[in-house]
Amino acid sequence: GHCVKVCPTDALSLPQLPMGAKETPAEKSGAAFDVQEPLPEGIKEYTDKDHTAPKPTSTDVQGDDQGWHGVWVIIEVNRGVVAPVSWELLGEGRKLADTIGCELCGVIIGFEIEDVVPQAFAYGAEKVYLVDHPVLKDYRTEPYTAAMADIANQYRPEIILMGATSMGRDVFPAVATKLQTGLTADCTVLGIDSETKNLQQTRPAFGGNIMATILCRTSRPQMATVRPRVMEMPPKVEGRTGEIIIAPFNHGEDDFRTKVIEFIPAVAGNAFLDKAEIIVSVGLGLGAKRHLAMAQELADVLGATLAGSRGAVEAGWLTHDQQVGQSGVTVRPKVYIAIGISGAIQHLAGMATSDFIIAINNDPEAPIFSVANFGISGDLFQIVPALTEEFKKRLG
Ligand code: FAD
Repeated sequence: GHCVKVCPTDALSLPQLPMGAKETPAEKSGAAFDVQEPLPEGIKEYTDKDHTAPKPTSTDVQGDDQGWHGVWVIIEVNRGVVAPVSWELLGEGRKLADTIGCELCGVIIGFEIEDVVPQAFAYGAEKVYLVDHPVLKDYRTEPYTAAMADIANQYRPEIILMGATSMGRDVFPAVATKLQTGLTADCTVLGIDSETKNLQQTRPAFGGNIMATILCRTSRPQMATVRPRVMEMPPKVEGRTGEIIIAPFNHGEDDFRTKVIEFIPAVAGNAFLDKAEIIVSVGLGLGAKRHLAMAQELADVLGATLAGSRGAVEAGWLTHDQQVGQSGVTVRPKVYIAIGISGAIQHLAGMATSDFIIAINNDPEAPIFSVANFGISGDLFQIVPALTEEFKKRLG
């Protein structure tokens, strides 16, 4: 029962043992009961033959007819700074809202954050829900979960999107749990099924080997996080206005267990990898940590940010926030220089949409060359210092 008490999203319950049922040793330690109970309403047990079942029709879906309406984008504000992915999602949300024929709304949560409202309109929101309260000054999972779940319950959006940032990855699962709905994390493509109007949420699965399109067919809202820099930034139209709804926050500081004692900012160079315009990225081809200095020198000359493959991170040469790829950061710089990186599919998933890719590898068959605009096949220990010298002459 201890977990039940401390679960921040009230997601757990401890059912009473039904009359006549006996606990096995495994069950005594917390496993499920050995009793065939009917499944809760709305939950269906799927069998193999269900895989060939016909597609559900719109009557199976708790859609518009039950008051779920509108596409919402959570505008992430962190100590006064808006995460750019929020604007990218307003651009994507616009397309979804136009396809469904509904409104596009921004949700802004924090304290003294009214100045973000005009920006949300400028990036395409027609309506903004504003939850402004001192308790929401610094991000914490519990109060932000409460704020999002409360307004979603009150205004019933059909779709809610948020960036797959540290905050989005933390708060959205808790919100989905509270709302008892589904969530697809780290989507790379979003669309609308023309027949059912379900949100099609596409993301890499099975280690990036397939793209899976996931539907949330029987519960609402439909929730998805999207990685920064995957969707295009929409144009900003200054002066555009819309409706503002001031949403209440009926909680006090005492309702939450986590307190912010001190704020220690992360090292800026690494923390903003997803916003870097030029990235010098290293892989295991570098051979040893001491050779990082060579890549760092190139990065310094170009004013670039240093990053790397998971191989380089696992070797202990770089930290995880410097990792590019499926299980790291998605980047979309103007120039991406890949040094001694093979180009595994999981790495490409995080950088293939960069504007211009330069790859240096001594294996002419390396997959990184398949996405490179410019490939240099040869020994990085000769090529990188030569490039650095040449850039110094031209830029210095
Ligand atoms: P390697 O594959 O070993 O490549 C080194 C390259 O350097 C080779 O192509 C070689 O030809 C070249 N080279 C060697 N010496 C020289 C030289 N002297 N000059 C020039 N070239 C040289 N990987 C990521 O990067 N990011 C992720 O987010 C990520 N997530 C993953 C998630 C999952 C679920 C899984 C299963 C894997 C993930 N991986 C990820 C790991 C990925 O599959 C690869 O193992 C990893 O990217 C390999 O790193 P690398 O390219 O640095 O090393």
